[in-house]
Amino acid sequence: MSEDFQFETLAVRAGQERSQFNEHSEALYLTSSYVFDSAAQAALRFSGDQAGNVYSRFTNPTVTMFADRLAALEGAEGCVATASGMAAILAMAMGLLKAGDHVVASQSIFGATQQLFGNILPKFGVSSTFVVGTEPEKFRAALTEKTKLVFIETPSNPLTEVFDIAAIAAVAHAGGALLAVDNCFCTPALQRPLQLGADLVIHSATKYLDGQGRVLGGAVLGRKSLTDEVLKFLRTTGPTLSAFNAWIILKGLETLKIRMEAQSANTLRLASWLEAQPAVQRVFYPGLASHPQHALAMRQQASGGAILSFVVKGEREAAWRVVDHCKLLSITANLGDTKSTITHPASTTHGRITAEARAAAGIGEGLLRIAVGLEAVSDIEADLARGLALV
Ligand SMILES: *Cc1c(COP(=O)(O)O)cnc(C)c1O
Repeated sequence: MSEDFQFETLAVRAGQERSQFNEHSEALYLTSSYVFDSAAQAALRFSGDQAGNVYSRFTNPTVTMFADRLAALEGAEGCVATASGMAAILAMAMGLLKAGDHVVASQSIFGATQQLFGNILPKFGVSSTFVVGTEPEKFRAALTEKTKLVFIETPSNPLTEVFDIAAIAAVAHAGGALLAVDNCFCTPALQRPLQLGADLVIHSATKYLDGQGRVLGGAVLGRKSLTDEVLKFLRTTGPTLSAFNAWIILKGLETLKIRMEAQSANTLRLASWLEAQPAVQRVFYPGLASHPQHALAMRQQASGGAILSFVVKGEREAAWRVVDHCKLLSITANLGDTKSTITHPASTTHGRITAEARAAAGIGEGLLRIAVGLEAVSDIEADLARGLALV
């Protein structure tokens, strides 16, 4: 589909292929394999000399529709759909790195990504250095001759630190490395890292791309020369996106932009309200003028996104009191849903690291994170006010 179409149009139309039945809505192809017209065609399909589906570990028409639509939204040449966000990061690493290579990753990344780079890839001879802080200079200082990949997530979880994608891409490229950006929090509706100079975009489609908390999925996007290497790993090893999940997320993409805009607007309103509450010490949200990187965020993102965190006055007891008085917000660490969720990072997502490491990372006992959904903001405020009054 033509790149000339606007984002909204691509979100509902890009990638669609109709069958002989000419269905209006994208079809779900639940089939593990495909039939060939002749022995000769089977041979051509297997050798890759003829395009076409062979086996759903390699390709499936519904999965291809999802991948093509997401590629159009990110402005990417290639997209490989995976079983989950972590499968995307694993496939990227296995497809593009080899023993002896080095990765420079931000310290402020998803916990499982940290485990992958810090504990699993070293078993295969790939080492990593974690950078504390957002300054591009710190990434430059961590590069070695062996660095092949720089990996960031922006805004970060849960403190919403913003990383300058264009500046870090320049640093990575000067050092001969690729830049991969986990674009889970903003999605292409709010931020397009490839246009800012990144080489690869990673998605956990489990979050906003589905947007309704139903299925797991993921994707790796970038130049075709890169995604082809990732696809080779996937074809052989199988952490492929299922057709059913692809079909669900394909339909999720159709409402991505209006959901992200509405959830962002809700988050800005909630963040402003929280800033005015006497029981709240500090609010972290890139859409607020008080955020230290507000200007950068507004340059690189269309809005602040739908995740905020805040510090209540007091320690764990005070924070837990707020959580425990919520009747509407879901107490869960998941995010990206139309239903708002609240989590206490120090005792859940960041509970396995030491108290000292948490303190160094700025994740205190009073910190709470909210992934804001589509409920009325006044109802969310009322839900929080109950606990905040007791802090
Ligand atoms: C959830 C998440 C992942 C992992 O995705 P899964 O689909 O759960 O495997 C990676 N990065 C970020 C930022 C996430 O929030």
